[in-house]
Amino acid sequence: MTENRELWEHALSEIELYVSKANFGTWFRNTIIIKEDGGTVFLGVPNAFVKDWLQNKYHIFILKALRNRAEYIKNIEYVITKGDKIKVEERSKPIFKNQLEFSELYVNKEDNLNPKYTFDTFVVGSFNETAHAAVQAILKNLGTIYNPLFIYGGTGLGKTHLIQAVGNQIKKDFPDKKVYYMTSEKFVIEVVNSIQNNRANAFKEKYRKYDLFIMDDVQFIANKDRTQEELFHLFNSLHDQNKQIIFSSDKIPKYIPNLEERLRSRFEGGMIVDISLPDYESRLAILNSKLKTSDFTPSNETVEYVASVVKGNIRELEGALNTIICQCQLKNRDINLTEVKNLIKNTIKPQKTISIKDVLHTIANFYNIEEKILCEKTRRKEVVKPRQIIMYILREDFNISYPYIGQKLGGRDHTTVMHAYEKIKNEVKTNNLLIQEVEQIRALLYNN
Ligand code: ADP
Ligand code: MG
Repeated sequence: MTENRELWEHALSEIELYVSKANFGTWFRNTIIIKEDGGTVFLGVPNAFVKDWLQNKYHIFILKALRNRAEYIKNIEYVITKGDKIKVEERSKPIFKNQLEFSELYVNKEDNLNPKYTFDTFVVGSFNETAHAAVQAILKNLGTIYNPLFIYGGTGLGKTHLIQAVGNQIKKDFPDKKVYYMTSEKFVIEVVNSIQNNRANAFKEKYRKYDLFIMDDVQFIANKDRTQEELFHLFNSLHDQNKQIIFSSDKIPKYIPNLEERLRSRFEGGMIVDISLPDYESRLAILNSKLKTSDFTPSNETVEYVASVVKGNIRELEGALNTIICQCQLKNRDINLTEVKNLIKNTIKPQKTISIKDVLHTIANFYNIEEKILCEKTRRKEVVKPRQIIMYILREDFNISYPYIGQKLGGRDHTTVMHAYEKIKNEVKTNNLLIQEVEQIRALLYNN
Protein backbone atom coordinates (compact mmCIF):
# COMPACT_ATOMS: atom_id res chain seq x y z
CA MET A 1 0.00 0.00 0.00
CA THR A 2 2.66 2.49 1.00
CA GLU A 3 4.66 1.37 -2.01
CA ASN A 4 1.81 2.32 -4.29
CA ARG A 5 1.39 5.62 -2.59
CA GLU A 6 5.07 6.36 -2.93
CA LEU A 7 5.03 5.41 -6.57
CA TRP A 8 2.07 7.67 -7.27
CA GLU A 9 3.50 10.57 -5.34
CA HIS A 10 6.67 10.25 -7.30
CA ALA A 11 4.79 10.21 -10.58
CA LEU A 12 2.65 13.16 -9.52
CA SER A 13 5.64 15.24 -8.58
CA GLU A 14 6.94 14.70 -12.08
CA ILE A 15 3.62 15.40 -13.75
CA GLU A 16 3.25 18.57 -11.72
CA LEU A 17 6.33 20.01 -13.34
CA TYR A 18 4.82 19.85 -16.77
CA VAL A 19 1.16 20.64 -16.46
CA SER A 20 -0.31 23.95 -15.45
CA LYS A 21 -1.42 24.36 -11.86
CA ALA A 22 -5.04 24.61 -12.95
CA ASN A 23 -4.89 21.39 -14.95
CA PHE A 24 -3.03 19.61 -12.24
CA GLY A 25 -5.64 20.59 -9.67
CA THR A 26 -8.52 19.66 -11.94
CA TRP A 27 -7.37 16.31 -13.23
CA PHE A 28 -5.00 14.87 -10.67
CA ARG A 29 -6.59 15.82 -7.38
CA ASN A 30 -8.23 12.84 -5.64
CA THR A 31 -6.41 10.24 -7.71
CA ILE A 32 -4.80 7.21 -6.12
CA ILE A 33 -3.14 3.96 -7.11
CA ILE A 34 -5.51 1.27 -5.90
CA LYS A 35 -3.30 -1.65 -6.80
CA GLU A 36 -0.65 -2.82 -9.16
CA ASP A 37 -0.99 -6.18 -10.75
CA GLY A 38 1.22 -7.84 -13.36
CA GLY A 39 2.45 -4.54 -14.73
CA THR A 40 -0.97 -2.89 -14.74
CA VAL A 41 -1.61 0.01 -12.44
CA PHE A 42 -5.22 0.49 -11.35
CA LEU A 43 -5.61 4.19 -10.94
CA GLY A 44 -8.57 5.38 -8.89
CA VAL A 45 -10.24 8.55 -10.14
CA PRO A 46 -13.20 10.44 -8.69
CA ASN A 47 -15.60 10.38 -11.66
CA ALA A 48 -16.18 9.45 -15.27
CA PHE A 49 -15.26 12.86 -16.55
CA VAL A 50 -11.81 12.77 -15.01
CA LYS A 51 -11.43 9.22 -16.18
CA ASP A 52 -12.11 10.18 -19.80
CA TRP A 53 -9.85 13.13 -19.60
CA LEU A 54 -6.89 11.31 -18.09
CA GLN A 55 -7.35 8.45 -20.47
CA ASN A 56 -7.66 10.62 -23.54
CA LYS A 57 -5.20 13.32 -22.84
CA TYR A 58 -2.72 12.28 -20.24
CA HIS A 59 -2.44 8.53 -20.62
CA ILE A 60 1.00 8.39 -22.21
CA PHE A 61 2.17 11.13 -19.97
CA ILE A 62 1.10 9.32 -16.80
CA LEU A 63 2.50 6.05 -18.06
CA LYS A 64 5.83 7.65 -18.71
CA ALA A 65 5.94 9.23 -15.27
CA LEU A 66 5.14 5.87 -13.67
CA ARG A 67 7.70 4.05 -15.78
CA ASN A 68 10.41 6.50 -14.82
CA ARG A 69 10.08 5.09 -11.36
CA ALA A 70 8.94 1.55 -12.08
CA GLU A 71 9.94 0.32 -15.50
CA TYR A 72 7.89 -2.86 -15.34
CA ILE A 73 4.64 -0.92 -15.55
CA LYS A 74 3.01 -1.44 -18.91
CA ASN A 75 -0.54 -0.30 -18.62
CA ILE A 76 -2.98 1.76 -16.64
CA GLU A 77 -6.59 0.94 -15.92
CA TYR A 78 -8.69 3.89 -14.84
CA VAL A 79 -11.12 3.03 -12.12
CA ILE A 80 -13.88 5.22 -10.78
CA THR A 81 -13.76 5.26 -7.01
CA LYS A 82 -16.79 6.52 -5.19
CA GLY A 83 -15.99 7.06 -1.55
CA ASP A 84 -14.96 3.72 -0.14
CA LYS A 85 -16.63 1.68 -2.81
CA ILE A 86 -14.31 0.88 -5.61
CA LYS A 87 -15.98 0.04 -8.84
CA VAL A 88 -13.69 -1.60 -11.32
CA GLU A 89 -14.80 -0.53 -14.76
CA GLU A 90 -14.54 -2.65 -17.81
CA ARG A 91 -11.36 -2.42 -19.90
CA SER A 92 -10.30 1.06 -20.88
CA LYS A 93 -11.47 2.28 -24.23
CA PRO A 94 -8.85 2.79 -26.88
CA ILE A 95 -6.82 5.92 -26.48
CA PHE A 96 -7.87 8.89 -28.56
CA LYS A 97 -5.34 10.75 -30.49
CA ASN A 98 -6.11 14.23 -29.36
CA GLN A 99 -2.73 15.83 -29.13
CA LEU A 100 -3.60 19.30 -27.97
CA GLU A 101 -1.85 18.94 -24.66
CA PHE A 102 0.26 15.89 -25.08
CA SER A 103 3.40 17.62 -26.08
CA GLU A 104 3.79 18.94 -22.56
CA LEU A 105 5.71 15.70 -22.24
CA TYR A 106 8.59 16.67 -24.35
CA VAL A 107 10.26 19.41 -22.46
CA ASN A 108 13.91 19.61 -23.39
CA LYS A 109 15.97 18.85 -20.30
CA GLU A 110 18.91 21.02 -21.36
CA ASP A 111 17.13 24.29 -21.84
CA ASN A 112 13.65 23.59 -20.36
CA LEU A 113 11.99 24.62 -23.60
CA ASN A 114 8.85 22.91 -24.74
CA PRO A 115 9.08 22.49 -28.53
CA LYS A 116 5.31 22.87 -28.89
CA TYR A 117 5.65 26.60 -28.30
CA THR A 118 6.55 27.98 -31.70
CA PHE A 119 5.62 30.96 -33.82
CA ASP A 120 3.79 28.68 -36.27
CA THR A 121 1.10 28.12 -33.69
CA PHE A 122 1.15 31.60 -32.24
CA VAL A 123 -1.67 33.77 -33.49
CA VAL A 124 -0.98 37.48 -33.70
CA GLY A 125 -3.78 40.01 -33.24
CA SER A 126 -4.18 43.51 -31.96
CA PHE A 127 -4.02 42.24 -28.38
CA ASN A 128 -0.47 40.97 -28.64
CA GLU A 129 1.05 42.59 -31.70
CA THR A 130 3.38 44.94 -29.83
CA ALA A 131 4.83 42.07 -27.85
CA HIS A 132 5.13 40.01 -31.00
CA ALA A 133 6.87 42.83 -32.86
CA ALA A 134 9.31 43.28 -29.99
CA VAL A 135 10.35 39.65 -30.00
CA GLN A 136 10.69 39.65 -33.77
CA ALA A 137 13.13 42.53 -33.43
CA ILE A 138 15.03 40.58 -30.80
CA LEU A 139 15.34 37.55 -33.05
CA LYS A 140 17.25 39.70 -35.48
CA ASN A 141 19.30 41.63 -32.93
CA LEU A 142 19.91 39.31 -30.03
CA GLY A 143 21.22 41.16 -27.00
CA THR A 144 21.60 44.47 -28.72
CA ILE A 145 18.18 45.97 -29.27
CA TYR A 146 15.84 45.61 -26.31
CA ASN A 147 17.67 44.30 -23.33
CA PRO A 148 15.97 43.23 -21.22
CA LEU A 149 12.61 42.70 -22.84
CA PHE A 150 9.91 42.71 -20.21
CA ILE A 151 6.55 41.25 -21.24
CA TYR A 152 3.58 41.54 -18.94
CA GLY A 153 -0.05 40.52 -19.05
CA GLY A 154 -2.71 38.52 -17.22
CA THR A 155 -2.65 34.79 -16.87
CA GLY A 156 -3.33 32.55 -19.86
CA LEU A 157 -2.71 35.26 -22.45
CA GLY A 158 0.33 33.73 -24.10
CA LYS A 159 3.39 35.03 -22.27
CA THR A 160 4.96 31.62 -21.80
CA HIS A 161 4.11 30.59 -25.35
CA LEU A 162 5.67 33.71 -26.82
CA ILE A 163 8.89 33.74 -24.82
CA GLN A 164 9.45 30.04 -25.34
CA ALA A 165 8.84 30.50 -29.05
CA VAL A 166 11.72 32.97 -29.06
CA GLY A 167 13.93 30.36 -27.41
CA ASN A 168 12.94 27.68 -29.88
CA GLN A 169 13.42 29.99 -32.85
CA ILE A 170 16.90 31.05 -31.74
CA LYS A 171 17.88 27.41 -31.32
CA LYS A 172 16.70 26.74 -34.85
CA ASP A 173 18.27 29.78 -36.49
CA PHE A 174 21.50 29.79 -34.52
CA PRO A 175 22.31 26.26 -33.38
CA ASP A 176 25.42 27.32 -31.48
CA LYS A 177 23.63 29.90 -29.37
CA LYS A 178 22.84 28.71 -25.88
CA VAL A 179 19.35 29.26 -24.63
CA TYR A 180 17.92 28.75 -21.17
CA TYR A 181 14.37 29.07 -19.92
CA MET A 182 13.24 28.96 -16.33
CA THR A 183 10.46 30.24 -14.13
CA SER A 184 11.33 32.52 -11.28
CA GLU A 185 9.71 30.01 -8.94
CA LYS A 186 12.36 27.50 -9.94
CA PHE A 187 15.01 30.14 -9.43
CA VAL A 188 13.72 30.83 -5.92
CA ILE A 189 13.98 27.11 -5.11
CA GLU A 190 17.52 26.99 -6.46
CA VAL A 191 18.53 29.96 -4.38
CA VAL A 192 17.08 28.40 -1.25
CA ASN A 193 18.91 25.14 -1.95
CA SER A 194 22.16 26.91 -2.66
CA ILE A 195 22.00 28.69 0.66
CA GLN A 196 21.48 25.37 2.41
CA ASN A 197 24.47 23.94 0.61
CA ASN A 198 26.61 27.00 1.16
CA ARG A 199 26.83 27.62 -2.51
CA ALA A 200 25.44 31.11 -2.66
CA ASN A 201 26.57 33.46 -5.38
CA ALA A 202 26.87 30.55 -7.77
CA PHE A 203 24.20 31.70 -10.19
CA LYS A 204 26.16 34.34 -11.89
CA GLU A 205 28.64 31.66 -12.87
CA LYS A 206 26.09 28.99 -13.61
CA TYR A 207 23.96 30.98 -16.02
CA ARG A 208 26.30 33.55 -17.47
CA LYS A 209 27.13 31.29 -20.39
CA TYR A 210 23.71 31.62 -21.97
CA ASP A 211 23.19 33.85 -24.99
CA LEU A 212 19.49 34.03 -24.30
CA PHE A 213 18.21 33.78 -20.75
CA ILE A 214 14.44 33.69 -20.30
CA MET A 215 12.80 34.04 -16.93
CA ASP A 216 9.06 33.42 -16.81
CA ASP A 217 6.69 34.80 -14.17
CA VAL A 218 9.29 36.98 -12.54
CA GLN A 219 6.64 38.42 -10.19
CA PHE A 220 7.27 35.47 -7.87
CA ILE A 221 10.50 37.03 -6.67
CA ALA A 222 8.36 39.60 -4.83
CA ASN A 223 9.42 39.75 -1.19
CA LYS A 224 12.33 37.33 -1.75
CA ASP A 225 15.35 39.40 -0.86
CA ARG A 226 17.99 36.80 -1.37
CA THR A 227 16.63 35.71 -4.74
CA GLN A 228 16.50 39.31 -5.86
CA GLU A 229 20.10 39.79 -4.92
CA GLU A 230 21.19 36.72 -6.90
CA LEU A 231 19.09 37.77 -9.85
CA PHE A 232 20.59 41.23 -9.75
CA HIS A 233 24.13 39.86 -10.03
CA LEU A 234 23.14 37.38 -12.69
CA PHE A 235 21.40 40.12 -14.64
CA ASN A 236 24.47 42.36 -14.58
CA SER A 237 26.71 39.57 -15.62
CA LEU A 238 24.55 38.67 -18.61
CA HIS A 239 23.80 42.23 -19.55
CA ASP A 240 27.46 43.28 -19.45
CA GLN A 241 28.21 40.61 -22.02
CA ASN A 242 25.30 41.67 -24.23
CA LYS A 243 23.47 38.45 -23.59
CA GLN A 244 19.76 38.73 -24.23
CA ILE A 245 17.43 38.60 -21.25
CA ILE A 246 13.65 38.22 -21.46
CA PHE A 247 11.27 38.42 -18.52
CA SER A 248 7.58 37.80 -18.28
CA SER A 249 5.40 38.95 -15.44
CA ASP A 250 1.76 39.43 -14.57
CA LYS A 251 2.41 43.06 -13.70
CA ILE A 252 4.79 45.86 -14.59
CA PRO A 253 7.98 46.11 -12.50
CA LYS A 254 6.71 49.08 -10.58
CA TYR A 255 3.92 47.03 -9.05
CA ILE A 256 5.85 43.95 -8.07
CA PRO A 257 5.70 44.23 -4.29
CA ASN A 258 8.93 44.77 -2.42
CA LEU A 259 11.10 44.71 -5.45
CA GLU A 260 14.55 46.15 -4.84
CA GLU A 261 14.91 49.51 -6.51
CA ARG A 262 18.06 48.51 -8.35
CA LEU A 263 16.37 45.45 -9.82
CA ARG A 264 13.31 47.41 -10.80
CA SER A 265 15.41 49.88 -12.70
CA ARG A 266 17.14 46.99 -14.48
CA PHE A 267 13.77 45.53 -15.49
CA GLU A 268 12.72 48.90 -16.83
CA GLY A 269 16.00 49.55 -18.55
CA GLY A 270 15.08 47.88 -21.83
CA MET A 271 11.66 47.58 -23.35
CA ILE A 272 8.34 46.90 -21.63
CA VAL A 273 5.43 45.51 -23.62
CA ASP A 274 2.05 44.12 -22.69
CA ILE A 275 -0.32 41.42 -23.89
CA SER A 276 -3.99 42.19 -23.34
CA LEU A 277 -7.21 40.22 -23.82
CA PRO A 278 -7.91 38.92 -27.34
CA ASP A 279 -10.87 40.36 -29.24
CA TYR A 280 -13.46 38.21 -31.04
CA GLU A 281 -11.54 37.97 -34.33
CA SER A 282 -8.38 36.96 -32.52
CA ARG A 283 -10.26 34.39 -30.48
CA LEU A 284 -11.69 32.89 -33.65
CA ALA A 285 -8.26 32.81 -35.28
CA ILE A 286 -6.80 31.10 -32.23
CA LEU A 287 -9.50 28.42 -32.24
CA ASN A 288 -9.01 27.76 -35.93
CA SER A 289 -5.30 27.52 -35.47
CA LYS A 290 -5.74 24.98 -32.65
CA LEU A 291 -7.98 22.91 -34.88
CA LYS A 292 -5.27 22.47 -37.48
CA THR A 293 -3.59 19.94 -35.20
CA SER A 294 -6.73 18.22 -34.11
CA ASP A 295 -8.13 15.06 -35.68
CA PHE A 296 -11.60 16.34 -35.27
CA THR A 297 -13.07 19.60 -36.47
CA PRO A 298 -16.34 20.81 -35.02
CA SER A 299 -18.69 22.82 -37.25
CA ASN A 300 -18.06 26.49 -37.98
CA GLU A 301 -21.16 27.33 -36.04
CA THR A 302 -19.70 25.69 -32.95
CA VAL A 303 -16.33 27.35 -33.33
CA GLU A 304 -17.91 30.77 -33.78
CA TYR A 305 -20.12 30.18 -30.79
CA VAL A 306 -17.13 29.33 -28.60
CA ALA A 307 -15.24 32.40 -29.84
CA SER A 308 -18.19 34.62 -29.04
CA VAL A 309 -18.90 33.38 -25.53
CA VAL A 310 -15.54 32.37 -24.06
CA LYS A 311 -14.15 35.82 -23.53
CA GLY A 312 -11.64 35.12 -20.83
CA ASN A 313 -8.09 34.13 -21.48
CA ILE A 314 -6.71 31.83 -24.16
CA ARG A 315 -6.27 28.95 -21.79
CA GLU A 316 -10.02 28.94 -21.16
CA LEU A 317 -10.64 29.12 -24.87
CA GLU A 318 -8.48 26.05 -25.39
CA GLY A 319 -10.17 24.32 -22.48
CA ALA A 320 -13.61 24.82 -23.99
CA LEU A 321 -12.44 23.57 -27.37
CA ASN A 322 -10.79 20.53 -25.82
CA THR A 323 -13.95 19.67 -23.96
CA ILE A 324 -15.93 19.80 -27.19
CA ILE A 325 -13.45 17.77 -29.20
CA CYS A 326 -13.23 15.22 -26.46
CA GLN A 327 -17.00 14.85 -26.36
CA CYS A 328 -17.17 14.49 -30.15
CA GLN A 329 -14.58 11.77 -30.02
CA LEU A 330 -16.33 9.95 -27.24
CA LYS A 331 -19.60 10.05 -29.17
CA ASN A 332 -17.81 9.58 -32.45
CA ARG A 333 -19.88 12.29 -34.13
CA ASP A 334 -20.19 16.03 -34.30
CA ILE A 335 -22.36 17.50 -31.61
CA ASN A 336 -25.02 20.14 -32.17
CA LEU A 337 -25.10 23.64 -30.80
CA THR A 338 -27.47 22.81 -27.95
CA GLU A 339 -25.12 20.08 -26.80
CA VAL A 340 -22.18 22.45 -27.12
CA LYS A 341 -23.93 25.07 -25.04
CA ASN A 342 -24.64 22.55 -22.35
CA LEU A 343 -21.15 21.22 -22.41
CA ILE A 344 -19.30 24.44 -21.97
CA LYS A 345 -21.76 26.32 -19.84
CA ASN A 346 -19.52 25.77 -16.85
CA THR A 347 -16.54 27.24 -18.64
CA ILE A 348 -18.33 30.44 -19.43
CA LYS A 349 -18.18 32.82 -16.60
CA PRO A 350 -21.56 34.40 -16.06
CA GLN A 351 -21.49 38.07 -16.91
CA LYS A 352 -20.13 39.15 -13.63
CA THR A 353 -21.82 41.97 -11.80
CA ILE A 354 -19.00 44.16 -10.71
CA SER A 355 -19.57 46.24 -7.61
CA ILE A 356 -17.94 49.52 -6.68
CA LYS A 357 -16.19 47.57 -3.96
CA ASP A 358 -14.70 45.26 -6.61
CA VAL A 359 -13.32 48.23 -8.48
CA LEU A 360 -11.76 49.65 -5.33
CA HIS A 361 -10.38 46.32 -4.34
CA THR A 362 -8.88 45.52 -7.74
CA ILE A 363 -7.27 48.92 -8.15
CA ALA A 364 -5.91 48.99 -4.60
CA ASN A 365 -4.40 45.56 -5.19
CA PHE A 366 -2.99 46.58 -8.51
CA TYR A 367 -1.18 49.56 -7.01
CA ASN A 368 -0.30 47.63 -3.92
CA ILE A 369 -1.91 50.04 -1.49
CA GLU A 370 -4.39 49.52 1.30
CA GLU A 371 -8.00 49.86 0.27
CA LYS A 372 -9.11 52.01 3.17
CA ILE A 373 -6.44 54.66 2.50
CA LEU A 374 -8.25 55.43 -0.75
CA CYS A 375 -11.19 56.80 1.20
CA GLU A 376 -9.08 58.82 3.59
CA LYS A 377 -8.15 62.45 3.16
CA THR A 378 -4.52 61.86 2.26
CA ARG A 379 -3.11 63.57 -0.82
CA ARG A 380 -0.02 61.40 -1.05
CA LYS A 381 0.93 60.94 -4.66
CA GLU A 382 0.84 57.16 -4.52
CA VAL A 383 -2.76 57.31 -3.30
CA VAL A 384 -4.05 60.22 -5.38
CA LYS A 385 -3.40 58.58 -8.72
CA PRO A 386 -5.09 55.24 -7.99
CA ARG A 387 -7.99 57.16 -6.48
CA GLN A 388 -8.35 59.20 -9.65
CA ILE A 389 -8.22 56.08 -11.75
CA ILE A 390 -11.01 54.56 -9.67
CA MET A 391 -13.10 57.65 -10.28
CA TYR A 392 -12.34 57.47 -13.96
CA ILE A 393 -13.26 53.79 -14.31
CA LEU A 394 -16.43 54.16 -12.25
CA ARG A 395 -17.56 57.00 -14.46
CA GLU A 396 -16.32 55.80 -17.82
CA ASP A 397 -17.18 52.12 -17.56
CA PHE A 398 -20.16 52.16 -15.21
CA ASN A 399 -21.62 55.59 -15.79
CA ILE A 400 -22.03 56.22 -12.08
CA SER A 401 -22.92 59.77 -11.07
CA TYR A 402 -20.17 62.09 -9.84
CA PRO A 403 -21.76 62.72 -6.44
CA TYR A 404 -22.25 59.01 -5.80
CA ILE A 405 -18.64 58.25 -6.70
CA GLY A 406 -17.51 61.01 -4.36
CA GLN A 407 -19.66 59.63 -1.60
CA LYS A 408 -18.22 56.12 -2.02
CA LEU A 409 -14.69 57.44 -1.85
CA GLY A 410 -14.82 58.94 1.60
CA GLY A 411 -17.34 61.74 1.00
CA ARG A 412 -15.52 63.72 -1.63
CA ASP A 413 -17.09 66.63 -3.44
CA HIS A 414 -18.53 65.91 -6.90
CA THR A 415 -16.34 68.58 -8.47
CA THR A 416 -13.25 66.69 -7.27
CA VAL A 417 -14.54 63.58 -9.00
CA MET A 418 -15.32 65.49 -12.17
CA HIS A 419 -11.89 66.98 -12.19
CA ALA A 420 -10.23 63.57 -11.66
CA TYR A 421 -12.31 62.01 -14.40
CA GLU A 422 -11.43 64.71 -16.94
CA LYS A 423 -7.79 64.60 -15.98
CA ILE A 424 -7.39 60.85 -16.45
CA LYS A 425 -9.55 60.89 -19.55
CA ASN A 426 -7.16 63.37 -21.12
CA GLU A 427 -4.07 61.62 -19.94
CA VAL A 428 -5.05 58.23 -21.34
CA LYS A 429 -5.02 59.77 -24.76
CA THR A 430 -1.29 60.34 -24.68
CA ASN A 431 0.40 58.69 -21.73
CA ASN A 432 1.38 55.20 -22.83
CA LEU A 433 2.18 53.93 -19.40
CA LEU A 434 -1.19 55.05 -18.11
CA ILE A 435 -2.95 53.44 -21.06
CA GLN A 436 -1.25 50.17 -20.23
CA GLU A 437 -2.15 50.44 -16.58
CA VAL A 438 -5.80 51.13 -17.27
CA GLU A 439 -5.94 48.27 -19.77
CA GLN A 440 -4.34 46.00 -17.25
CA ILE A 441 -6.82 47.03 -14.56
CA ARG A 442 -9.71 46.40 -16.91
CA ALA A 443 -8.35 42.97 -17.72
CA LEU A 444 -8.21 42.19 -14.02
CA LEU A 445 -11.71 43.49 -13.44
CA TYR A 446 -13.45 41.87 -16.35
CA ASN A 447 -11.31 38.78 -16.81
CA ASN A 448 -11.36 37.25 -13.35
P1 ADP B 1 0.56 32.73 -19.87
O1 ADP B 1 1.98 32.28 -19.78
O2 ADP B 1 0.41 34.17 -20.24
O3 ADP B 1 -0.24 32.38 -18.64
P2 ADP B 1 0.40 30.70 -21.90
O4 ADP B 1 1.55 31.08 -22.75
O5 ADP B 1 0.62 29.54 -20.98
O6 ADP B 1 -0.13 31.94 -21.07
O7 ADP B 1 -0.84 30.45 -22.85
C1 ADP B 1 -1.98 29.70 -22.45
C2 ADP B 1 -2.40 28.80 -23.58
O8 ADP B 1 -2.87 29.57 -24.66
C3 ADP B 1 -1.24 27.98 -24.13
O9 ADP B 1 -1.67 26.68 -24.42
C4 ADP B 1 -0.83 28.70 -25.38
O10 ADP B 1 -0.29 27.83 -26.36
C5 ADP B 1 -2.12 29.32 -25.84
N1 ADP B 1 -1.87 30.60 -26.51
C6 ADP B 1 -1.55 31.74 -25.90
N2 ADP B 1 -1.40 32.75 -26.78
C7 ADP B 1 -1.64 32.21 -27.99
C8 ADP B 1 -1.66 32.74 -29.32
N3 ADP B 1 -1.40 34.03 -29.56
N4 ADP B 1 -1.94 31.91 -30.32
C9 ADP B 1 -2.23 30.62 -30.08
N5 ADP B 1 -2.24 30.06 -28.86
C10 ADP B 1 -1.95 30.82 -27.81
MG1 MG C 1 2.98 31.40 -18.20
